[in-house]
Amino acid sequence: MQEQATTRTYHEPIIGIDIGGTHTRIGLFPSVDAPEFTLLAKFPTRPDYEEQLKNIVQVVKDQGVRRAAGIGSSIAARIAKDGHGVIFAPNLPDYIDKPFASQLSELCSSPVRLAHDTVCGLLAEARFGSLQTIERCAYLTVSTGTGAALQLGKAGTRLVASIEIGHQILDGNRRECLCGMVGCLETYTGGRQLELRYGQPVEQITAGAFWDTFADKLAIGLINLAQLTRIDVVAVSGAIALNRSSLLPELQSRINVLLKPSKLELRLATLGGTAPLVGAASLLAVPEGCILH
Ligand SMILES: [Zn+2]
Repeated sequence: MQEQATTRTYHEPIIGIDIGGTHTRIGLFPSVDAPEFTLLAKFPTRPDYEEQLKNIVQVVKDQGVRRAAGIGSSIAARIAKDGHGVIFAPNLPDYIDKPFASQLSELCSSPVRLAHDTVCGLLAEARFGSLQTIERCAYLTVSTGTGAALQLGKAGTRLVASIEIGHQILDGNRRECLCGMVGCLETYTGGRQLELRYGQPVEQITAGAFWDTFADKLAIGLINLAQLTRIDVVAVSGAIALNRSSLLPELQSRINVLLKPSKLELRLATLGGTAPLVGAASLLAVPEGCILH
């Protein structure tokens, strides 16, 4: 889809919402053309869907945002293919099959766009951060889960897709994943699963062998992604990657040895933890047809 032909220009402010597994942040963006925003609110994400919806609407109305041109929302959950709600969310089960986008749109009298947080992270990095000018690329978040989004572009056209990188099966892996399958990459790299397995938060694990295995498995997952899609660059984000500066070079050196003849470059996501929020607002500038939920 040609983006130039269908992208609107917004003169009123945009609301960006990032619904994470732990916190929800709401920002006011003067324009979709810059990553700068004013933080309107940050509060714990409510497990109760109706309560969460009420809180978001309250913030938007309390702040007197009556003329928002649109609302873009990022959520740490798998989105239905039509982009209107959530279909898989281990951390937010009450949100499943609720028409979030249309309800929020009705309650705030504003157009609403919704996407997976990795899609929003990718949009933000592609527009303002480490993936600018890269046509074929991905955004990887290494956090409570291992998620990714992919962009395949050419000459002003692109498709951005949410992909289940953490739930690709690794040969010989008999570990049971929280998703219900056996053998997923995320059984080695997902913060939530690892904490349940080892009884302590990942950031407290210091054993070298643990981190060697972590990097070995994630490198294989990224090589598989590169071979299937022929992407050139991956922007890496998420709490585990951002807090452990040695992880990126460890992954890169493994990839350089194993991946032939093509190359895959890893870059630290430059927008850090704000990428999903910035990308949520950026949704309003991207035609819905360019995004495969
Ligand atoms: Zn899985």
